[in-house]
Amino acid sequence: MERRDAADPLRACRDAFDLPPGEIYLDGNSLGALPHAAVARVAATVRDEWGKGLIRSWNTADWIGAPARLGGKIARIIGAAPHEVQVADSTSVNLYKLLVAAVQAQPGRRVILSEPGNFPTDLYVAQGVAATLPDCELRTVSRDEIVDAIDESVAVVMLTHVHYQSGARFDMDDITRAAQAKGALMLWDLSHSVGAVPVDLNAANADLAVGCGYKYLNGGPGAPAFLYVAERHQAALRSPLSGWMGHAAPFDFTDDYAPGQGIARFLCGTPPILGMAALEEGVDLFLAVDRPALFAKGQALCSTFIELVETRCTGLGLTLATPRDPAARGSHVSLRHASAWPVMQALIARGVIGDFRAPDALRFGFTPLYTAHADVWHAVEALRDILASGSWDQPAFHVRAAVT
Ligand SMILES: *Cc1c(COP(=O)(O)O)cnc(C)c1O
Repeated sequence: MERRDAADPLRACRDAFDLPPGEIYLDGNSLGALPHAAVARVAATVRDEWGKGLIRSWNTADWIGAPARLGGKIARIIGAAPHEVQVADSTSVNLYKLLVAAVQAQPGRRVILSEPGNFPTDLYVAQGVAATLPDCELRTVSRDEIVDAIDESVAVVMLTHVHYQSGARFDMDDITRAAQAKGALMLWDLSHSVGAVPVDLNAANADLAVGCGYKYLNGGPGAPAFLYVAERHQAALRSPLSGWMGHAAPFDFTDDYAPGQGIARFLCGTPPILGMAALEEGVDLFLAVDRPALFAKGQALCSTFIELVETRCTGLGLTLATPRDPAARGSHVSLRHASAWPVMQALIARGVIGDFRAPDALRFGFTPLYTAHADVWHAVEALRDILASGSWDQPAFHVRAAVT
């Protein structure tokens, strides 16, 4: 593993991050690590732009341009045109805006189609949309039945490209084509894909997408999220959250709402500038690297992890929940274990940080910007030792926390 790291042209990327020494961080798919540049940038934004520039900074520091500027940068990572992406709100709120817009744009089609076990907020938001719009309904069918379940009643198919728990990845081209063949719109949630696997929304002809800023993009806790609306739909779709930042002329201060041009109409309120400042530094790191090489490294880290677990942890009660085929998964791996919660707490106490996902998954994210091959080795050895010795079975490790 050390030889692989020495030969890794991307190994210097790790130096861009402030990682706690002595720990192995395998949870960048849940909260990305802190880029050094974000510390300096947020400090400067607070001290100079806020402190000294005050209200002038909306123009002089281009705060007002941040949603479009960051959107344009993220567009390069997800295969979209710059004017098709905006950074705004949270993933949940962006889902709400796009789902309502998609259903309202297609009278006669009232179904939002998704899969059971999708990330909870996606289903909860869709349930809220269904409860709000007349006759609207959320229908869920298992992932291998999705294509067959798309019919003329479906307004929008909403799927998470890389599943948050299993890591299974949908074929974006195939499913998008199947949705559009039946006249439905396709909405992809890219939260576990952006910065983790290659994504090309334009090549897939995707209609709509949302994604998260604080996972692989390293934007910081609660970082703003992004949304994508294909250019061909921008004029027809209307955001239900018709706030002033999405107005055609916010600073005319008129009484009546008129949607802005293009993607700007999907903004709602004032952009969170401190969060945007941190996120921009995280995104800039991706723009500077060879992304195909980066994604290939992520796949290699995942494959190595699976191979080591299967050779060194046999008979210790672990089952692989993630596809073995790199093309069919994201950049994280889940293992099922009957005592997954206390096992993960024991690992964390040893400095190997992954997470637990109910009911029984140990989840490990491999973020190629800052994870080394040697980290994978040490993580598997720690897991093996904890399981083989039974050291996870202590009262302290059984105590549940609010956030898992
Ligand atoms: C992380 C994640 C979200 C996060 O939504 P928030 O509004 O930021 O809490 C949404 N969808 C998926 C699939 C995710 O993985």
